[in-house]
Amino acid sequence: MGKKKIAVMTSGGDAPGMNACIRAVVRTTLHEGHSIFGIYGGYTGLINGELMPLNRHSVSNIIQKGGTFLKTSRCETFRHKSGRRRAADKINEWAIEGLIVIGGDGSFRGAHALFKEHNIPVIGVPATIDNDIFGTDLTIGYDTAVTTALHSIDKIRDTAASHNRLFIVEVMGRNAGFIALEVGICGGAEEILVPETKSDLKKLGDEIKTWSKAGKKSSLIVVAEGDDLGNANTIADKVKEAYNIESHVCVLGHTQRGGSPTATDRVLASRLGFHAVHEFLKGKEDIMVGWKSNQLNTIPLPQAWEKKKPLDKDLMNLYSVLSS
Ligand code: ADP
Repeated sequence: MGKKKIAVMTSGGDAPGMNACIRAVVRTTLHEGHSIFGIYGGYTGLINGELMPLNRHSVSNIIQKGGTFLKTSRCETFRHKSGRRRAADKINEWAIEGLIVIGGDGSFRGAHALFKEHNIPVIGVPATIDNDIFGTDLTIGYDTAVTTALHSIDKIRDTAASHNRLFIVEVMGRNAGFIALEVGICGGAEEILVPETKSDLKKLGDEIKTWSKAGKKSSLIVVAEGDDLGNANTIADKVKEAYNIESHVCVLGHTQRGGSPTATDRVLASRLGFHAVHEFLKGKEDIMVGWKSNQLNTIPLPQAWEKKKPLDKDLMNLYSVLSS
């Protein structure tokens, strides 16, 4: 096999562990005797021709850093055929034979379009704190986001308990409840509201009243930002209006996106970067690599967004038992 030229990029929402994944892609490619290039700034950088050769030292001292040293972007131009044509022209001009895209489902849709329209071999590596991608039990960044949110929740509990207060804490996750469910369980939340199940204002109001009758000193509700009852502020307003119950709202926001990746995320990112390069070298294209049932996994790229990953039913049952 001749020496191949591979490019790696990060795209869409950033997630802790992206750097660890880039490092794994770079070092695995070099280990296998091929050359590796980094595209700076996601699809915007690709269209603008921001490509740099990378070596093992380019990725020294980054495994522990959040964010992405290759930078990322949201690129409107790439959503259009004309933008993707410009991107494909650059790839062909540089004689890049494979493109590894570390990102979320939006980035994968774009990569798939590039493959379909211009026959560019693409490999997706799932990195998003939301964990809402089919074909992998975990996405890069999710474990760190859960850990970060949990640290905040533990602190909120201290103040909630001191003042006998009800707190409604909003976590990220877009339209998915993975972060909320796991953080809620780890943080001992009395209630967890997720978009995957119907949230009921009356049931919530009745529960809060029961908690105070049972003599609970403080209560914590964790809500996913995309819950059907609304975000934390909306739910607090509804609870106040319908039941005259006061609560305090804490929206954790973008702190969940940053910080040094956890050990779990670093291992996952390293495994998936390594797997992505090997799958490409085996001739695979238009696929996503993942980690499922404690094994490396590979799925056709479109499945990543066409199939819905369900919340873990066992965890849902567990939480309803432990919080009652
Ligand atoms: P994420 O990858 O984190 O889900 P986005 O949804 O913002 O983030 O997607 C990242 C980028 O991927 C977008 O800015 C756009 O350039 C490209 N993209 C997203 N959806 C599509 C699509 N349907 N077709 C082509 N490109 C897309």
